[in-house]
Amino acid sequence: MKFNELGLSADLLRAVEEQGYETPTPIQRQAIPHILEGHDILAGAQTGTGKTAGFTLPMLQRLEDRPSGPRRVRALILTPTRELAAQVNESVRTYGKYRPVRSMEIYGGVSPRPQITKIQRGVDVVVATPGRLLDHVREKNIDLSTVELFVLDEADRMLDMGFIRDIRQIIKHLPDTRQNLLFSATFSKEIRELANNLLDNPAEIQVAQRNTTADRVEQRVYPVDKARKRELLSEMIGRGDWRQVLVFTRTKHGANKLAKQLNQDGIETDAIHGNKGQGARAKALRDFKAGKIRVLVATDIAARGLDIEKLPHVVNFELPHVPEDYVHRIGRTARAGQDGTALSLVCVDELKLLKDIEKLLKRGIKKEYATGYEVDKSIQPEPLQKGRPQRSGSPRKGSGKKTSSAKESRRPGKNARANQRKRRSKSARSRFA
Ligand code: AMP
Repeated sequence: MKFNELGLSADLLRAVEEQGYETPTPIQRQAIPHILEGHDILAGAQTGTGKTAGFTLPMLQRLEDRPSGPRRVRALILTPTRELAAQVNESVRTYGKYRPVRSMEIYGGVSPRPQITKIQRGVDVVVATPGRLLDHVREKNIDLSTVELFVLDEADRMLDMGFIRDIRQIIKHLPDTRQNLLFSATFSKEIRELANNLLDNPAEIQVAQRNTTADRVEQRVYPVDKARKRELLSEMIGRGDWRQVLVFTRTKHGANKLAKQLNQDGIETDAIHGNKGQGARAKALRDFKAGKIRVLVATDIAARGLDIEKLPHVVNFELPHVPEDYVHRIGRTARAGQDGTALSLVCVDELKLLKDIEKLLKRGIKKEYATGYEVDKSIQPEPLQKGRPQRSGSPRKGSGKKTSSAKESRRPGKNARANQRKRRSKSARSRFA
């Protein structure tokens, strides 16, 4: 099937063609005709499936006949993170290039003033995170009573981040008659409930099985002692001449520390996490995309929704506490038809997390042993510090402030350290002989 068989207009097809897309992805094939017909949609699709174009293209087409008079908000897209809001808006701009549509992003962490000015100038499409949008609604800066099309993107993640109350509040300010599209990678009971309340006789679309990982991602686990993870990572990056690596840590502190160490190893690295300002996050992402830095170290929440094309390597420097996050993380590679690898450096403390992930995937992940990094059997597992915000907490207040103080690195015992030193010098000799 080709894009021109979906019922999209010539100017949208032209913008798609300029992106170099030849065939619509499964979610696009299934969702676009339903949305064009005005139906509500409940779609199970992860990032990387092409879902953004799947709702943006038909949305733009439905907004075609702009009523005369001042601009008013006709489409509202809610996303869990600022990065995703920025990326979705980028897609609106890209696909709407040949249309007179005006869109904007609304999110927190930046001054509300320029946002208010933009709203006042008139806007057709708003892409927003729930918290700041609700602030604008309460301050009467924005009127949502004219919204015709409402999109909840990555709904599962929004619920995980504690946005449900904000979402409910926002919905109260929308008109009763409107088209609703809900996208979610997973379908928990809560998502089903939200969908039941929100959607009117929706078309259900499922493009990826729940929690299945992209088939093209080659996954491997490297057992390694915690204290030697950084050394192994530097070596892998150097030997493989990897140019673009997304690395995950569990905590913000861990992300900063690793970025610093990799820079000391001569590998240009930046970190992206919730404690960084919007400007710093955007810059890190820009530099990473442009190849100015080789490694981007990220926490789960910051990485959610990052769209980096053709990302070849994802490394789990630490496994996530929540097994579903593993699936989200490795979804950053092998996107839309590319191949990719997802490697996990796993120490003795994380074996339980690995087991949980394998249970979720319903299969084992292939283990590989890095020469010179044999694990020290004398190191005893220690409990992991919880570094994730509570699911029920308020996202704005609670978003992981505690995590930065979470102790993230523990040193092995004295004997283990001595053994490690011995082995290290031996393995260094054998490796570099
Ligand atoms: P998404 O799932 O919306 O985050 O999209 C994942 C990636 O796929 C983005 O980099 C898109 O630019 C890309 N993409 C979207 N639609 C297509 C298509 N039909 N063919 C190839 N790539 C696409």
